[in-house]
Amino acid sequence: MSRGADVVIAGAGIAGAACAYELAKRGASVVLLDYGKAGMQATNAAAGMLAPLTETQARGPMLDFGVEALRAYPALVDELQAAVGFDLELRLNGVLKVAFDEALADALRRRCAWQRELGFDLRWLNDAECRELEPRLSEHAICGVFSPEEGNISNQRLALALVRAAVARGATIHERAGVRGFARTRGRIVAVKTADATYACEAVIIAAGARSGQLAARLGVRLPVRPVRGQMLALGGMRAPVRHIVWGPDGYLVPRANGLVFAGSTVEDVGFRRRTTRAGERRLRAAASRLVPQLAAATVHFAWAGLRPGTPDDLPAIGRLPGYENAYAATGHYRNGILLGPLSGRLVAEAMTSGDWSAIPAAFGPARFGTH
Ligand SMILES: Cc1cc2nc3c(=O)[nH]c(=O)nc-3n(C[C@H](O)[C@H](O)[C@H](O)COP(=O)(O)OP(=O)(O)OC[C@H]3O[C@@H](n4cnc5c(N)ncnc54)[C@H](O)[C@@H]3O)c2cc1C
Repeated sequence: MSRGADVVIAGAGIAGAACAYELAKRGASVVLLDYGKAGMQATNAAAGMLAPLTETQARGPMLDFGVEALRAYPALVDELQAAVGFDLELRLNGVLKVAFDEALADALRRRCAWQRELGFDLRWLNDAECRELEPRLSEHAICGVFSPEEGNISNQRLALALVRAAVARGATIHERAGVRGFARTRGRIVAVKTADATYACEAVIIAAGARSGQLAARLGVRLPVRPVRGQMLALGGMRAPVRHIVWGPDGYLVPRANGLVFAGSTVEDVGFRRRTTRAGERRLRAAASRLVPQLAAATVHFAWAGLRPGTPDDLPAIGRLPGYENAYAATGHYRNGILLGPLSGRLVAEAMTSGDWSAIPAAFGPARFGTH
């Protein structure tokens, strides 16, 4: 069967769904193809944190992009909620990062100082102030930094909303429709192929998460995106063990709107193996109860794992693929795809519409990986 669209997007996680929504909003005809079910890979596995200050270790384009992404969230969420009619559970009520020893306290103090110099509102808290904010916090926490503007969202609801809103704007989605290959003439992709259909197109976006490198390889393009496994636990059985996101030296806790606390996460280089492990579960339980000792008695409601799309320099890969005039990537968002995916989608759609890519940091360009 042969069909057509202005833009075919390979992958319906948050990155692909955001591109689809933003392109459809600008009047493009869009086909979104997913190998499985939309939003059910890394996007479903995430903790939903929107925390660029807490996550970033240094000044640079990642921090700037992350802060821009965070600040764009409230307007996007209003727009999507109006379109789909359900709550995306955006809660920007702050992140507390704590230290258990002097070495970590020093590192926290330094980060707090340079981020404040950049004008961000961060509050240094002593041990008593930390526990005032989080009464169940371990008494071994000696100090912390509270970042009041950060928070979290339901990543599952957000992904669903982006897909539904894209479809409402005229995009078409096909699930269980993995991209298998491309038809090209010189430096142009003219069609995208699945097992059942060929989609003629004016442009292609590779947004296949951890598998983006494999797809780019079919175009002869080097895009070294690798899977980085993260395991998570959903803990329940206690009323409000934490009120804010709490980060410790070896894990974090995210209170979700449904009353569960997500405890994360491992960072593992194990290829495409997406299973949870007993060792992973043990580590997450230990990290959670180190932060809030009562969580040692919590019930594990679910355990799961996902594959983050990592790159060698931990920066995303957003932009035109070298050697092609109409093939693009929106991937490599690694630990921050929920935060960054919507902004990447908007900037890719704007750039594809205008031809001006200057709003996307040059450091994120896929050409940085060279050709082989
Ligand atoms: C445990 C864990 C916790 C995390 N926590 C956070 C967090 O708190 N905050 C945050 O910002 N980020 C977080 N992340 C990172 C975030 O989840 C990812 O960066 C983000 O979801 C990546 O989105 P994506 O759309 O690129 O990839 P994915 O969500 O993996 O989507 C890619 C899609 O492409 C499809 N696909 C693959 N191959 C093909 C093909 N050949 N053809 C068509 N489709 C294909 C897949 O089926 C999939 O649906 C976390 C990740 C993990 C694993």
